[in-house]
Amino acid sequence: MKTEQFPLEMQPYLVPTPSGKYIYECSGCKGEYGIEKLLYTCPECKSVLMIKDREWERLKAIPGSMWRKIFDYRSMSTLPALRGIYRYHELIGSMMPLDSIICLGEGHTPVVAANQRLVQWVGIPFHYKNDGQNPSASFKDRGMASAFSYLNYLIRNRGMSDVLAICASTGDTSAAAALYASYLVDGVKSAVLLPHGKVTPQQLGQPLGSGAKVIEIPGVFDDCMKIVEYLSENFSVALMNSKNAWRILGQESYSYEIAQAFDYEVGNLVVVVPIGNAGNITAVLQGFLKLFDLGIIASLPTIIGVQSEHANPVYLYYLEAQPQKRQFRPVTVRPSVAQAAMIGNPVSMPRVVKLVEQYRELAGEDAVQVLEVSEQEIMDAMLMANRNGHISCTQGGECLAGIRKAVQGKIISDDRIAVLDATAHALKFAVFQEKYFSDRFEPEFEVVPKKELQNAPVLVSPPESVPSPGQGKPLDPEEFKTFVEYTAKSVADLLGLKIR
Ligand SMILES: *Cc1c(COP(=O)(O)O)cnc(C)c1O
Ligand SMILES: [Zn+2]
Repeated sequence: MKTEQFPLEMQPYLVPTPSGKYIYECSGCKGEYGIEKLLYTCPECKSVLMIKDREWERLKAIPGSMWRKIFDYRSMSTLPALRGIYRYHELIGSMMPLDSIICLGEGHTPVVAANQRLVQWVGIPFHYKNDGQNPSASFKDRGMASAFSYLNYLIRNRGMSDVLAICASTGDTSAAAALYASYLVDGVKSAVLLPHGKVTPQQLGQPLGSGAKVIEIPGVFDDCMKIVEYLSENFSVALMNSKNAWRILGQESYSYEIAQAFDYEVGNLVVVVPIGNAGNITAVLQGFLKLFDLGIIASLPTIIGVQSEHANPVYLYYLEAQPQKRQFRPVTVRPSVAQAAMIGNPVSMPRVVKLVEQYRELAGEDAVQVLEVSEQEIMDAMLMANRNGHISCTQGGECLAGIRKAVQGKIISDDRIAVLDATAHALKFAVFQEKYFSDRFEPEFEVVPKKELQNAPVLVSPPESVPSPGQGKPLDPEEFKTFVEYTAKSVADLLGLKIR
């Protein structure tokens, strides 16, 4: 819809203009720094940064009910810059002029209700939000749209040039970073560091297809992360991991979309996300806190973070009930089917600690929980989901296993409604499904396939006496008839079809 076709009273709010005073704020010493250049850690205390709008309070001049209308009407706008996550411009980088914004079709991902069979299996109604339906097939595109729009802004307005965008990745960060970098024609090159053998063939193909320099490193993600951290401290590169606070801003749009999808009534919701490097849960917490602060939502949903037993540092941290006794200890990860979250030393941990404290102060101790699930539970849950109409990846399976455990353990009461993050598309993690179906999991995974969840193709192979089509040798009509009759009969036998 064109701007002049919207209701008159909405028109002044529809197209945002640059506003606000954005700064980096240190999550440790609270030091503040200007955003004229890319900064990842506090120059004083080395802690990770958050982005803050010093003029945030100005947004309260508009009542929550009006903000709801603004975001809803903007969803109908055809302005290119507002087609994706920047319809929430004021909340996620409003100093940015619209012509710096890059939109490759991220956001607006479907919220799909679970069928009755799954609702019974879990114990409460729930929905999957399919963030695998983003352009590079994972949620990472939300934060990447924001980080690359900011880079574009620096290039256009601050004379930045010859940018090398670099990241470490469990697979999806590199796919997203390489995609957005390849779109920016003004002198942005991209390089990605992957743990050798620890990303799926689909994920490896993505940055290669986008033309990025792909470098494989021995070890796991945590090792790659140390290397890009070293590079970003000593060389001129743009770090695109979620350590880069601009990634968090864009990722907040996930929370905004959930609020919008539920008509801004989110108090009864339980939002379930997997935790790896903890950028996502940081953004989800911060997103809902911002909506609450502006009166756009009246109450906060419960947030559940889920980790695998094989990569569970955040779970272990919160196991200690007394805050002053909690101590963060990185863990050495073991092989996990939730490979995108197989991280033992999450970079965003200081952000999480701060935000969880804030969130619990406003919504109660129970409002944020961290659970762990087994590899077996993750696989079984993913397959259950996908046998019931979903397109969940293993991390989405982790969410499903987590909410089921929470309901069965009475951590979550049965009058709640859950929203699970299917963080990537099922196809990216097809290798784990294949391992399950063919019973080829290496013992370290500790997954034993359940017969009823396995599946395999059946090959019909006609005997010598029946002519079969082959490469470059078409059958004559009589032979073809024999082939069709034989094969159709075999298929009918396999399916137990009745003659009509
Ligand atoms: C990155 C990723 C995660 C983990 O998210 P964090 O922000 O690192 O906690 C989970 N699932 C998928 C598919 C991912 O790509
Ligand atoms: Zn600091």
